[in-house]
Amino acid sequence: MSGPATGAAGVFQARDAHYIDGKWRPAAGEERIDVVNPTTEQIIGQVPAGDARDVDAAVRAARAALPGWAATAPAERGALLAAARELMSARRAEIAATVSAELGAPPAFAAAVHANLPISVMRSFATLAAEYEFEERVGNSRVFQEPVGVVGAITPWNYPLHQIVAKAAPALAAGCTVVLKPAEDTPLVAQLLAAILDEVGLPAGVFNVVTGLGPVAGQALAEHPDVDLVSFTGSTAVGRRIGAAAGAAVKRVALELGGKSANVVLPGADLAKAVNVGIANVFANSGQTCSAWTRILVDAERYDEAVGIATEAAAKYLPGQRLGPVVNAKQRERVRGYIRRGVEEGARIVAGGPEAPEGLGTGYYIQPTVFADVRPEMAIAQEEIFGPVVVLIRYEDEEDALRIANGTVYGLAGAVWGADEDAAVAFARRMETGQVDINGGRFNPQAPFGGYKQSGVGRELGAHGLAEYLQTKSLQF
Ligand code: NAD
Repeated sequence: MSGPATGAAGVFQARDAHYIDGKWRPAAGEERIDVVNPTTEQIIGQVPAGDARDVDAAVRAARAALPGWAATAPAERGALLAAARELMSARRAEIAATVSAELGAPPAFAAAVHANLPISVMRSFATLAAEYEFEERVGNSRVFQEPVGVVGAITPWNYPLHQIVAKAAPALAAGCTVVLKPAEDTPLVAQLLAAILDEVGLPAGVFNVVTGLGPVAGQALAEHPDVDLVSFTGSTAVGRRIGAAAGAAVKRVALELGGKSANVVLPGADLAKAVNVGIANVFANSGQTCSAWTRILVDAERYDEAVGIATEAAAKYLPGQRLGPVVNAKQRERVRGYIRRGVEEGARIVAGGPEAPEGLGTGYYIQPTVFADVRPEMAIAQEEIFGPVVVLIRYEDEEDALRIANGTVYGLAGAVWGADEDAAVAFARRMETGQVDINGGRFNPQAPFGGYKQSGVGRELGAHGLAEYLQTKSLQF
C-alpha cells in the first residue's frame, strides 16, 4: 500500500473530522482510519477513529436538537428529506464514484444500485413523512405516534449508503435525531451524506456522524445511556451483543443481521430463468448481500441440468469486470476459507475455487464459485459466507424442499419459482423468512424488509420501517 492518493475522479474527499451539531468538528483523539480502495489496494483517504468522547459530544448534540425537531410539522420534515433527495440525485455520480472507490463495486453496479437505491428510499420517506397518519381516534381516545428519541445507527459496508438511508430517513421522518457510526471500511459516503444534509439546512444536531472502529466508537454509541434506540445492521455476532446491552438498559433495538436465503425452484418452473436470475442475485455486489439467495434448491430430476446452467452462468462473471473484489483482505481470507471448507466437507466445485483469479495484479478478488453435491447440513449450506459463492442442493419432494429451506438459523429472504403462481405463493407462505420474491418479483423499496429467527428484529423500509422509530401515546377524554 502507498500513501493517500487524493482526489480520485469524482470521489468525495475524506474529512478529518466528525460531523457534530451541524459542524465538521476535530476528533478528540489522534487515531485515524485508512480508507483503502479494494480494487487498487491504495489508501484513498483517512478519517478519524472516533472514541467515546466524540460519541458523547454527538449524542449530546442529538439530545439538544430533539425537542425542536420532534415538534416540527411532519410535512416540513418531509420537505427537507425531499430536498436531500434532490441533492443526492444531483450528486449521483459522486455517490457512485465514492462507493466504487471505497467498496470496490464495479461502476455500473455502483450507479444502478449503490446510488439509485438510497435515492429512491429517501424519496419514499419524504413522501411518507408528509402522508403518514401520526394521529388517530380509537373510541374516546386520541392515539399519537411520537418519535422514539435519539437514535444510534450502526451500519455495515456492503450497501453503505442504502443501509444508512434505510435508518436515517425514517428516523428523521419520525422526528427522531440521529447519531450515525458508519462502517470503518466505507466512511466516505457517510460523510458525503452529512455534507448533503448540511447543505439542505437540516437543523444543527439533528443528524451527526462519528467515524470509528466498531469495538470503540460503535460500542460507545450502542451503550450510551442517552441513546433511546439502537438500530444496527451487520453480523449476527455483534447484533447479539448489541441486543443484550439494549435489553439490559431497557432501550429499543432494531437488528438487521445475516442470512442464508433459499432459492427454491419447484418442479415445472422455468429452470434456466430461476438459476440464471439466482446466480445474478448472489454474484451482484460480489456476494456481499445479506439477503442473497445463496442456496439454490432443485428437484432431483432436474438437478444435473441446473448445475450445468449455474456453471455456465458463473463463467460470465469475470473478476475485474462484472465481478468486483470483496471489501478487504480479511473478508477475502474468510470467503476463501469457506470455499476450502466446502471441498473438505465433500462438496464438488463446478466453477471457481479458492485460488486467486488469474491475471489480476491487485484487488481482493475471489473467483465466482459454484458448489454441487451440497448436503443441507454442510457449513457452506448453513453459514453466511458473504462472497461470490453459491451452493446447489438437491431435494426429493416439496416437503423436503421446505425442510431444507427452513433448515438454517436464518430467515431473511428467499425466492420461489413455479409454473403455478398460486402454488409458489402457498410454498412461500410456509417459509420461515421475512421476504420472498415469486418468479423474479421486483425489489420493492417500500415493502418491509427484515428477518425471522436469527436474521434480526424489526423491519426497515416503507411504513413498517417508519413505525420502528415511533412510540405510541393515548389520551382519553
Ligand atoms: P460487523 O458486524 O463487525 O460490522 C458492522 C458494523 O458494526 C460496523 O459499523 C462495525 O464497526 C460495527 N461494530 C463492530 N463491532 C461492534 C461492537 N462491538 N459494538 C458496536 N458496533 C460494532 O461486520 P463485519 O466484521 O464488517 O463483517 C463480518 C460478517 O458480518 C460478514 O462476513 C457478514 O457475514 C456479516 N455482515 C452482514 C451484513 C448484513 O447486512 N447483514 C453486513 C455486513 C456484514
